[in-house]
Amino acid sequence: IPTSRPKVCPSIEAWLAQPRPLLIDGKWVPALSGKTFPVFDPATGEKIADVAEGDAADIDLAVKAARRAFESGPWARMTPSERGRIIHKLGDLVLEHADELATLEALDNGKPKHVARAADVTLSADMFHYMAGWATKIEGKTISISALAAPGVDFFSATRPEPIGVVGQIIPWNFPLLMAAWKLGPALTTGCTVVLKVAEETPLSALRLGELILEAGVPAGVVNIIAGFGETAGAALSAHPDVDKVAFTGSTDVGRLIVKASAGNLKKVSLELGGKSPNIVLADADVELAIQGATAAVFFNHGQCCNAGSRLFVHRSIFDRVVEGVAAEAAKIKLGHGLNPDTEMGPLVSQVQYDRVTGLLASGRQQGATAVCGGAGVGGQGYFVPPTIFTNTTPSMRVVAEEIFGPVLVAAPFDDVDDALIAEANNSIYGLAAGVWSTNTAKAQSIAHRLKAGTVWVNCYHIFDAALPFGGYKQSGWGREMGQAVLNNYLETKAITTRLG
Ligand code: ADP
Repeated sequence: IPTSRPKVCPSIEAWLAQPRPLLIDGKWVPALSGKTFPVFDPATGEKIADVAEGDAADIDLAVKAARRAFESGPWARMTPSERGRIIHKLGDLVLEHADELATLEALDNGKPKHVARAADVTLSADMFHYMAGWATKIEGKTISISALAAPGVDFFSATRPEPIGVVGQIIPWNFPLLMAAWKLGPALTTGCTVVLKVAEETPLSALRLGELILEAGVPAGVVNIIAGFGETAGAALSAHPDVDKVAFTGSTDVGRLIVKASAGNLKKVSLELGGKSPNIVLADADVELAIQGATAAVFFNHGQCCNAGSRLFVHRSIFDRVVEGVAAEAAKIKLGHGLNPDTEMGPLVSQVQYDRVTGLLASGRQQGATAVCGGAGVGGQGYFVPPTIFTNTTPSMRVVAEEIFGPVLVAAPFDDVDDALIAEANNSIYGLAAGVWSTNTAKAQSIAHRLKAGTVWVNCYHIFDAALPFGGYKQSGWGREMGQAVLNNYLETKAITTRLG
């Protein structure tokens, strides 16, 4: 466990040494209040940068810029192919700056740099490249109508998809760059303009992305980026009367606040919220594959994934073998600073998360669960929590019912693939993702049909693709991210009917 942060290259050190400003109307500006806030390296607790603290006044300026850019700026007048080329160029720039962006992500979020490079940065670039293609492929329909109230008259009817307008986007800290890409890609390709509020824990990579956005040729005001706190900047954005739509990724509790705040002007809302995803290993599973998969499902990104496979159900005949296997894999995971090339798991993102997760670990112990491994925070400097597996759990325990957002697995055996198993797997307020492990793919497929989850992975986990829709049933959210499906979040459908003759 590190005691001080490794040095990074001089150009990044120089970038971090300056207070990082906000992006409003194509210019980098300090907050109107003049305030800044510190950003910390979660592996050491050291300050790494100061960032301008945007609040309601800055949000208002940014919304005005986005409105101008939408109504009369070049974005509205640009052809789809020009828009697509700019978004594609942004994807290229992300790849050109991959190493730098991965370094910032490791420093700010704590995740291993090699993981940030392979996953966060690569998928972010791919999201821009994929979404760039949609710019020229957004189509309406012609519709034959009966027009019963106007007998004998001919009409021509067609739908025209139009951008929804000014979009407020609020993102979390677990995949700071990737969440920005998931949000910005579809908004830009549909022709919307954006005010993006980044998470206060991890503003750095999205602010650097803002520089690349200008370099790619996105006109002033089309993307505005505000760093600041949820209760001030985030709340102001979700309540702003001139924002047409808000897209939010974060906790279910804050999702509810967003819905309430958006009621004033009834702005459209899409939400990607929490999860407590079941991962089911059948008796006929490839056990080694399932052990590797169950380990990655819950411990990837330190468990700080809304889709983490955090509830493991294993057939009783192989339960001990699978749990011991996952525990053995967990024991191999090397904790350390994200910039250390050997590190496989970094710290949690903040003191707040450390206190939350270790509090839940304590509740698990107190409520009688058995910690097969881990079970308490590492302590000392940085916010490190080791991989933890609880067995002997009951459905009412907090560690089973609540989203933990840390490297914590609860495992329970089952006897039959029956209604009771499906009911238990679906026994959650959430419905984001699920996993099924079996060599009988027909059986796995039929279980997949019965799970109330927006994504089901069979004999795999965490497989994301810009082309695949992702989102939740139940209290895991509204709408879908990525794929063609996400375009609906950013388009209005206009039906135009013309009388002929
Ligand atoms: P997490 O639990 O993952 O920290 P949150 O839901 O608290 O996630 O935060 C996700 C994003 O929502 C962050 O950008 C945060 O600043 C923002 N946020 C927090 N509270 C509010 C709020 N009341 N209104 C709008 N945004 C908020």
